[in-house]
Amino acid sequence: MRTRVAIIGSGPAGLLLAQLLDLSGIDSVIVERQTADHVSSRIRAGILESGTVDVLRKAGVGERLSAEAIEHRGIYLQWPGERRHLDFVESANRAVYVYGQTEVTKDLLAAREKAGQQAFYQADAVALHDLTTDRPYVTFRDADGVAQRIDADVVVGCDGYHGPSKRAMPGRRSWERAYPFAWLGVLAEVAPSTDELIYAWHEDGFALHSMRSDTVSRFYLQVDPAERIEEWSDDRIWEQLASRLHLDGWDLKTGPVLEKSVLPMRSFVTTPMRHGRLFLAGDAAHIVPPTGAKGLNLAVADVSVLADALVALLVDASPELADAYSDTALRRVWRCTHFSWWMTSMLHRHGDDFDAQLQLAQLRRVADSAAAARELAENYAGLPIAGGVHG
Ligand SMILES: Cc1cc2nc3c(=O)[nH]c(=O)nc-3n(C[C@H](O)[C@H](O)[C@H](O)COP(=O)(O)OP(=O)(O)OC[C@H]3O[C@@H](n4cnc5c(N)ncnc54)[C@H](O)[C@@H]3O)c2cc1C
Repeated sequence: MRTRVAIIGSGPAGLLLAQLLDLSGIDSVIVERQTADHVSSRIRAGILESGTVDVLRKAGVGERLSAEAIEHRGIYLQWPGERRHLDFVESANRAVYVYGQTEVTKDLLAAREKAGQQAFYQADAVALHDLTTDRPYVTFRDADGVAQRIDADVVVGCDGYHGPSKRAMPGRRSWERAYPFAWLGVLAEVAPSTDELIYAWHEDGFALHSMRSDTVSRFYLQVDPAERIEEWSDDRIWEQLASRLHLDGWDLKTGPVLEKSVLPMRSFVTTPMRHGRLFLAGDAAHIVPPTGAKGLNLAVADVSVLADALVALLVDASPELADAYSDTALRRVWRCTHFSWWMTSMLHRHGDDFDAQLQLAQLRRVADSAAAARELAENYAGLPIAGGVHG
């Protein structure tokens, strides 16, 4: 089989890239390990930067998003006895949008079906070959166990942290930070008890009140990475959330828990993001802890830059943008890696009581100083996708 671009992975990065290429008349084939249903039902990210929304609209998948996404002007920062609102629109001139990764994925899957481009789900033993030639190819076994080979002009690894693409890059360098805590994520069928997200520092550990819709809320609790989910009954979860999010005069609504799981927290970057005719995008090249809501947004930013580079390379035979892709993408990756690390370090209880006082001083500074609030707002609401990330 022959295509212009072989895409490994059908998460948001792979699906969006396929869609943007299709709009420019470039055909692609997606190879994915899971079923399409599995891919679209994974409960993950839920906050979109305004730049991400612009890219999704440009990709032709903005209709339901425009109708259903909930616009947030900012977030609340909380520490015991205080809940302070940061207004991103006021300080950075842009809002963020609540729209689940599940919904983004469903919209992209529907668009791909409409475009009639080919995809192989439940693919096994995916391997990449001849990446430093003009004729790279990908091999795998399809859902029926039949050996397949896709010849392409370019291969793009959108296969997340565990996928094979980055391992096919010789001489790459990786940077990693494992955090000494994890998040217990909870999806609950209950109306949010807040109009915008609450990020709460607490003596017993961080808590986040997020949401997915008017009827579904998302919560996170800082826990030990070795914590077993069986030790967290629904009652214990609600009791801890009520305690860590407590504010006089405010009540937390509770409801049936739909899903709960423990998520490890790490920062990871691998460089370069290109080797010959192989390009990496999204979680295949970098992981951020979710505190800054950057994972999905970074994947979209990578793909936006890469789609332009591949159109220039494959349609106009102009290699400059493709040659610059890794450096261009990494500038934003490292900025977002720093922001995600900074938010994580400020909000999670770790270290000793001296560290706790430093965290509280930092939180008060962000809430009280227009300059400090603006720094958080610009990063959270999203820096420009191409270039200019250092302001
Ligand atoms: C459990 C979890 C919770 C998260 N929660 C949040 C959150 O609350 N907020 C936030 O901002 N971000 C969150 N993230 C991060 C965010 O979801 C990711 O940054 C985003 O999914 C990146 O998209 P992607 O397409 O690059 O990677 P992925 O969505 O991981 O997609 C990669 C795809 O590649 C496929 N694949 C893997 N190996 C192979 C193979 N061998 N062959 C073929 N296909 C393969 C996978 O099945 C997957 O479909 C979370 C991530 C995880 C894992």
